[in-house]
Amino acid sequence: MEGADVIVVLHSHATREQIESVKERLHDRAMSSVVVSVMESTMVVSEGIAPAELTSTVEELPFVERVVTVPGTQRLTSRLLRPENSPVRVGNAVPAVFGGPEFVVVAGPCAVESREQMNAAVDTVVASGAAVLRGGAFKPRTSPYSFQGLGVAGLTLLAEQRTRTGLPVVTEVVTPKDVEVVAEESDMLQIGTRNMQNFELLREAGACGRPVLLKRGMSATVEEWLLAAEYLMHTGNGDVVLCERGIRSYERSTRFTLDLSAVAEAKRLTHLPVIVDPSHSTGRPHLVGPMSLAAAACGADGLIIDVHTDARNAMCDGAQALDGEQFAAVMARLAPVVEAVGRTLAPTRAHTLASV
Ligand code: PEP
Ligand code: MN
Repeated sequence: MEGADVIVVLHSHATREQIESVKERLHDRAMSSVVVSVMESTMVVSEGIAPAELTSTVEELPFVERVVTVPGTQRLTSRLLRPENSPVRVGNAVPAVFGGPEFVVVAGPCAVESREQMNAAVDTVVASGAAVLRGGAFKPRTSPYSFQGLGVAGLTLLAEQRTRTGLPVVTEVVTPKDVEVVAEESDMLQIGTRNMQNFELLREAGACGRPVLLKRGMSATVEEWLLAAEYLMHTGNGDVVLCERGIRSYERSTRFTLDLSAVAEAKRLTHLPVIVDPSHSTGRPHLVGPMSLAAAACGADGLIIDVHTDARNAMCDGAQALDGEQFAAVMARLAPVVEAVGRTLAPTRAHTLASV
């Protein structure tokens, strides 16, 4: 019998009972399904091949907007499913929206080291207009002898900065068992390049109720990156932001090779926001500015930049961090480029900085 995997898109006012009735119809035909919300749309995704005749009866239900069959490997991430962008809102007090009209800059140190270091870094990035703060507490280091991060104590220091500024904070989670505590203490979970295909971690992070920032694996194709995002979305989480952070090549004059063509390609293939990390990709402070401008020009929705006020003594990735002055210069040069491509740089909305 002819058929295909189908995604049933319901009208935005569909009730819980109506969602259940679609699930039951699929279930009656021995197909399991998952329910995913992306912005105002609720979607029921069938697992397995839906016979064509079932597809047409479901399509006739008054609360069903359309039934979509997506060719290729993508399902929930596909622009064929949702031609419009899916903005992702992060944080509460002073939220940031990735993938909307504003270009969002995330900034802060690679790793959280101390309260003093965080106060200094956050003061400087907030003064230049960062909309989201970053800082790693659990660090996935290539060498076991390198600083591994402060763990839960680092999360607490990062959360203090959210209280101080009202800005959302993003931080990496490296193992499924830490998802809960990271979700409690931060506004957005980061999955790093080394864990892009850690499928248990993706499932757990997807289900935690927080937006997720998914970095591209350093040797992953665009298709594999989008399939990792499918894992997150498949848990029901529509709030996924992708991040290009450089791939491995033979080139040694930069830390990785920033693949901006992948950004434009991902923007074509998916409705999810895509941002760029010019710090980890180039590994060179003098390249962060030019690559930030290029990222904005090629359609990225934002940036994530390493900033440290004492980079020489940084415990992690000091060689690539910008100081406050360099970050301010990048932000100033970025504004006209962002405007030239029809976006705006988010204005500073942080609360007056209190001390902690
Ligand atoms: C980071 O952002 O701190 C980080 C470790 O990045 P990546 O996973 O891209 O190396
Ligand atoms: Mn780093």
